[in-house]
Amino acid sequence: MSVQTEQGSPKLPELKVNVATPANPVVGRVVESRQVTRGGRKSASFVRHVSFDVSGTPLAGSFRAGQSFGVLPPGTDERGKPHKLRLYSLACPSTGDDGEGNVVATVCKRVIDEHWETHKLFLGVASNYICDLQPGDEALLTGPSGKRFVLPEDPSKHDYIFFATGTGIAPFRAMVMDLLQAKADSRIVLIMGSPYTTDLLYDDEFTKWASECSNFRYLTAISREYVPEAGASKIYVQERLKTNADELVPMLMNPRTLVYVCGIAGMEVGIIRLMADLLPEDVLSQYVTVKDGAGPIALIDRKEFGRQVRAGSRLFLEVY
Ligand SMILES: Cc1cc2nc3c(=O)[nH]c(=O)nc-3n(C[C@H](O)[C@H](O)[C@H](O)COP(=O)(O)OP(=O)(O)OC[C@H]3O[C@@H](n4cnc5c(N)ncnc54)[C@H](O)[C@@H]3O)c2cc1C
Repeated sequence: MSVQTEQGSPKLPELKVNVATPANPVVGRVVESRQVTRGGRKSASFVRHVSFDVSGTPLAGSFRAGQSFGVLPPGTDERGKPHKLRLYSLACPSTGDDGEGNVVATVCKRVIDEHWETHKLFLGVASNYICDLQPGDEALLTGPSGKRFVLPEDPSKHDYIFFATGTGIAPFRAMVMDLLQAKADSRIVLIMGSPYTTDLLYDDEFTKWASECSNFRYLTAISREYVPEAGASKIYVQERLKTNADELVPMLMNPRTLVYVCGIAGMEVGIIRLMADLLPEDVLSQYVTVKDGAGPIALIDRKEFGRQVRAGSRLFLEVY
């Protein structure tokens, strides 16, 4: 779900959407499926980078970092109806994994749970279907979807703070690759949160890019494990605004900076509350607007947050 942004947002590019629909999907052939958790098999999560060759279909060359595509899992649900499509964010640059717009990729986490009533194993339909796919297998794809959670038309005019949790890293891997490949004149800070270091996604790549590119900074926030070298123990993504305040608060104050948040629904609450603590009212109001009568952000109940607080012109949210 994207949150609509305010008028006065940076100009966004005109994008193609839904060139392939559920009624008319395209066939993508799996090119690659690899695990991307830092801990590999030591991680409690199973998360894979899965790419599909869509050459010769309308989807080829039609997607942009920040957009997502649909996957139609085969089979039917408990009511005998065909499974509905699920959305997956692009985790590759806008030029695709192949550099030519023909290979579209995502990062998919297996959903593993218990059935509500029977407490038997529940496996998420689409995520397990995608993670089971082998190179050469075919899948039905739709999209692209989404027009607002993308980089501005002229990315060089801005600096960026990206907050990610879990597979919310996908659009930021895509955007960072676009920005670095274009040699954009932008400062980029990526803050990736996970419970344990073993759950960090694409960690090797981000560490390497940060060592090679002086304009790219990669910070992690590990919430359930003490990580002395990270300079802070057991923190959530938003707390990087405090531990790295010298660097991040001046960025937030600078009108060039845009903030993007993607990942677990509810993560935006902590980030916005801390921004409200750190920023003067006139700057904060460029990131969020609060409904009349809602009172101070710090006191708004988590359940009410979505209704009372809206993304402003410099904040982009995609949480699911
Ligand atoms: C814009 C957008 C982008 C997204 N991008 C990504 C991405 O890049 N990567 C990614 O991995 N995901 C992404 N998602 C989430 C993705 O679309 C799916 O929702 C997710 O993979 C789960 O789908 P599923 O079919 O595996 O699970 P489902 O089968 O749809 O189950 C969904 C949830 O319902 C619960 N549930 C359903 N039925 C039962 C039951 N009987 N008993 C117990 N629990 C039950 C499950 O625990 C699970 O949490 C994105 C979503 C959106 C909206």
